[in-house]
Order: sequence, then C-alpha cells, then structure tokens
Amino acid sequence: MNFEELNLHPTLQAGITACGYQTPTPIQEQAIPTALLGRDLMGLAQTGTGKTAAFVLPLLHQLLALPRGKVQALVVAPTRELAEQIHIEIGKLGKNTGLRSVSVYGGVSKQGQLKAFRAGVEIVVACPGRLLDHLGERAVNLSQVKHLVLDEADHMFDMGFLPTIRKILQHLPKQRQTLLFSATMPAEIRRLAGEILTDPATVQVARQAPTATVAHVLYQVEQPGKAALLRDLMQQAEISSALIFTRTKHKARSLATQLSKAGHSATSLQGNLSQSQRTRAMSGFKEGRFKIMVATDIAARGIDISAISHVINYDMPDSVEAYIHRTGRTGRAASSGTAFTLAGREDGPMISRIEKSLGQPMLRKPSAG
Ligand code: ADP
Ligand code: MG
Repeated sequence: MNFEELNLHPTLQAGITACGYQTPTPIQEQAIPTALLGRDLMGLAQTGTGKTAAFVLPLLHQLLALPRGKVQALVVAPTRELAEQIHIEIGKLGKNTGLRSVSVYGGVSKQGQLKAFRAGVEIVVACPGRLLDHLGERAVNLSQVKHLVLDEADHMFDMGFLPTIRKILQHLPKQRQTLLFSATMPAEIRRLAGEILTDPATVQVARQAPTATVAHVLYQVEQPGKAALLRDLMQQAEISSALIFTRTKHKARSLATQLSKAGHSATSLQGNLSQSQRTRAMSGFKEGRFKIMVATDIAARGIDISAISHVINYDMPDSVEAYIHRTGRTGRAASSGTAFTLAGREDGPMISRIEKSLGQPMLRKPSAG
C-alpha cells in the first residue's frame, strides 16, 4: 500500500514527502482509514512503529475542513520531549496546510504558550500538568475541540497523570473523536478507554520488530566489573552512537562524567536537568556532537532518535516491557542495531523472561577483556 491509497487531502502529500515517508507503516495503514471515518480508535503498538503520523495525518486531514482560529484538536503526551516531537511532526506533515499548533509543557515560561493561544492555534500538543494550569487560569479554551489524542497512555498512567487527564477531559465537549495510543494495555488503561472511547475500533500491531532487526548480546558481569567492561566495549569501532541505560539519575550522571574523562563524548539525560539542559543534551546527541547518552528509563521515554547503533543496558531494566522499550530505540526501520546487556548473577530470572519474550536466547559473550 502507498500513501496515495489512503485518500488523504492532496496538500498533505508534500508533508509526507518532506518527511521522507514512502509507504505507510502497518499501524498507519490500519489506523488512518479508520480515523478518517471519524471513529474512535484504540491503537496498540510498541515504540518506533510510526504512531505519530498515524494520528497526525488524519487529524490534519479532518482539520482542513474546519474553521480556523479555534483549538479544534488536542494531543496529550506524557513528556516534554514527546510533546515537542509531535508538534514538530505536525509542522512537517502539515507544512502546506496553514494549520497552526503549539506545544505546551512545564519547565518553560508560559509567555510563548499564551501568545500562541491568543494568536489562535488549531492544535494544542500538551503535557497534562501545564495544560491543566492554563485551563485553571482560563488561558485556553478547549470547548470547541473536535479531536482528542492521548499518546503513550500507558506512560501517562505510570507517571501518575490519569487524574489530571480526567480533569482536563471535563473541559472538552463530549461530542468528539478520541484516539488513544498505548504500547501496552494495563487494566487502568483499559478502564480509561472504556470511559472515554465510544464504540472504538482497535488496531494492533504485533510486537516483533526487536527480534527482527536487533542483535541481543549478553555480558555476564557483576557490578564492580561493569565500568571496565563498558570502557572496553566503547572502543569498538562500529559503535557510532550509544544510548546507555542506568537505574538511577545519579548513576546516569556519574557514568557520563566517567566516560567523558575516558575521552568519549558523552552526555546524560536525567530528571534533574533543567529544560534547557535537557534540550542541549538531546540535540547534542541527535546531531552527533555526543556519541553517548546515558539516561534513565523515565528520562528517555518516547524519545525518538532513529540513528542509534547501540543500546546498552548498564543496569538491567526492571521488566520485560522496559527491555523491549529500551532496545526498540535501535534497529528502527530498515537499519539494524545491537543491544548489549550487562547482567549479574541476580539478573538470571529477568534474563530468562526476556529471552522467552524474544523467542530466542541472547548471544552470550565473555566479559573478561
Ligand atoms: P512511535 O510513536 O510508534 O514510537 P514514531 O511516530 O516516533 O513512532 O516513528 C518512529 C520513526 O519512524 C520516526 O523516526 C519516524 O520519522 C519514522 N516513520 C514514521 N512513519 C514512517 C513511514 N511511513 N516511513 C518511514 N519512516 C517512518
Ligand atoms: Mg510515539
């Protein structure tokens, strides 16, 4: 299938081409026709499957037929980076539509956001907390919203946002289209979906991308040996960019410092950074000024960096889901990637569960250099 067959408004084709998209991904192929019918939708697919365009394209298509100058669509996302990415994708895909969007999140001044509201945007892409602030101050009017998207609903639940989201929903008309996207379907999200979706269509993409394009390599090493092993691993020439995961913010920062001292260009992304520090770390890594980024799961959530050659689990993830999510950052689309996992004896049970989910054993390599 190609994008033309989706019968999107012709003005969107320029944006699709500008993004370099040639064929819709499976979730796009399934979600776009359904969403274009105006139906509510639940989209289940893991990270990296192209969910953003799966909702942005039908959103833009439908907004082209609506009056300008009022907020007609609201997208809610769990993190600032994700809100920013969605806003950027709207800008690219909608470049010839004249539709305007604003990203709204905390940690930055409200001024720019207020200015955009006053200028009259059609799309608001927001993190829950700051949006509820604006609503409390009557700075934004959501009473004309026709389309609502909740992206990464499972992460919003993990981060404790569901009560805030329920409050936000009180400011929206009941009569609207709602699209809900999630990588997993815990009971709380199922319940939320039952409350806010009307006769939804479900589109689901099987979870299989990681095994297909990612090599999963296991190093058995206890905690004290990890730093030396990592330094050895980082000598490998084929590592063009590595995202390293640690359990704590503190470890993320200290490991990045250690790696910098060892002569690598490394940065860290963790919850203690200011917004401008986060932006600098992210763009530095994306643009290749840093080869290594050390991050915690929370800090790295939803971030789309497509050219990561290696994901390194310096500390074990605490669930199979988290492993799949972390390693889904490499081997995206056509390129292949490698995931290194540094695991000690006590990590044995988690390794077994991950291998079961992968449907194959990890490649075991000796850790002594
Ligand atoms: P998700 O939200 O499911 O994690 P994204 O929407 O962030 O996925 O997309 C993941 C990556 O795939 C992005 O780099 C995006 O630009 C790219 N992508 C999305 N749709 C397509 C497509 N149809 N063809 C090629 N690349 C695509
Ligand atoms: Mg996404």
